[in-house]
Amino acid sequence: MAGYFNSILTGTKSLVTGLLITQAEFFKKPVTLQYPHESLEMTPRYRGHIQLVKNPETGTHQCISCGMCQKGCPSGCITLKGVKQEGVKGKVLVQYDLDFTTCSLCGQCIENCKPGAIEFSLEYNLASTNKEDFHYDLLERVKEQK
Ligand code: SF4
Ligand code: SF4
Repeated sequence: MAGYFNSILTGTKSLVTGLLITQAEFFKKPVTLQYPHESLEMTPRYRGHIQLVKNPETGTHQCISCGMCQKGCPSGCITLKGVKQEGVKGKVLVQYDLDFTTCSLCGQCIENCKPGAIEFSLEYNLASTNKEDFHYDLLERVKEQK
């Protein structure tokens, strides 16, 4: 008989404990987001695909087309081209493509870039079933960057 009442007591105790936890959690701010309608702000150290750093003063990139990022990339996923233009010192960047399908996010390109012209983006909404969607024209993208 004592065992029977003990079981009832233990069951009631766990029920009340569970309800108290539920009640406490019910009034807390939700930690989940209504994805994809809401997006998380990534931490500054998050590694998304690389992107050209936008100079806020000029509204464009600061790449000098030295090619060191391309040379240092172990996966060969950067294709860039700089051309000589009259009246302009050095080369002008006319192409900067990234094949993100083979990028390992190792960061070697960023390390190699002495002028600090590339960085990891905070982009994480990248799901697609089409491989071509992961070929980025970073020169075009820099125009859209805020
Ligand atoms: S992060 Fe690494 S793999 Fe990706 S583009 Fe840069 S060097 Fe290449
Ligand atoms: S290393 Fe930097 S400056 Fe040189 S081509 Fe790459 S992004 Fe441009």
